Amino acid sequence: MRTVAPVSELQALVHEAERPLGFVPTMGALHAGHAALVRRCRNECATTVVSIFVNPLQFGQGEDLERYPRTPEADQALLQELQCDVLFMPSAREVYPAGRRRRVSAGPLGEILEGAARPGHLDGVATVVATLFDMVEPDRAYFGRKDAQQLAVVEALAREWERPLEIVPCDIVRDLDGLALSSRNAYLKPAEREQALGLSGGLHRAERAWREGLRDAAELEVLARSPGLHYDYALCVDPAGFGAPRPGGPLLLVVAARMAGVRLIDNILLGGQQPAESGWVCRQT
Ligand code: AMP
Repeated sequence: MRTVAPVSELQALVHEAERPLGFVPTMGALHAGHAALVRRCRNECATTVVSIFVNPLQFGQGEDLERYPRTPEADQALLQELQCDVLFMPSAREVYPAGRRRRVSAGPLGEILEGAARPGHLDGVATVVATLFDMVEPDRAYFGRKDAQQLAVVEALAREWERPLEIVPCDIVRDLDGLALSSRNAYLKPAEREQALGLSGGLHRAERAWREGLRDAAELEVLARSPGLHYDYALCVDPAGFGAPRPGGPLLLVVAARMAGVRLIDNILLGGQQPAESGWVCRQT
């Protein structure tokens, strides 16, 4: 594995690389969810490029940019083990050179749900993803379904990309008890983690009711809310575009909640093309 920071070095490697070239953008503090993306990329592409960059543009004022977990040595060891070809770890100056201000809008999708709770967040995501795509020039890029709205923003971006680019959505990887893996789980003390389980627990409850025939979105949303959690939202949307669900169509049930200053998100697809194991992919031990 080659670890590079300057864009010029990255591009020299990318231009010589065997194609298809797959790209997995991350903010580091890697866990089994990231590893699943990298494994899939490895299996499907001749070259795998992973980036680690904690993107300041996608953090709002007062959010956790400074304390966001950073574990570069462990990340490098894991990526080495996964046989990643190139690890790109740029500085903020490398990604956003002074005087070359570029901003990409997430469009109307950037205004609702995550965009409403975290103004500017999805525009920051769109900007960094577009910038990294320009640098890495991937044929395929791998994104997790855990960040469902981010995935929808990136899919819209890729549709307008000047080069052919396939976005590959990857299933949510969960801990053995159901909690979706997230770098932010590291913030949780044991009692808070126990409480956080309400997030996936609520989704599981709604999924059971869906399998038993419940189709009313409002009732499913009520079922998804676990007591004791402060929800920003628990909402059923149309998985294609995040608008109001179509009658008789699949639902994407998206949730976001805060506990002890930690904000976690999760979701589950009800109906439609189910991900493996009906959406509950647990990490390998
Ligand atoms: P992050 O480092 O949080 O920006 O995430 C980098 C990529 O990993 C994004 O595409 C995320 O959606 C994906 N990801 C994060 N957690 C998980 C998870 N538990 N399962 C699947 N993908 C994930």
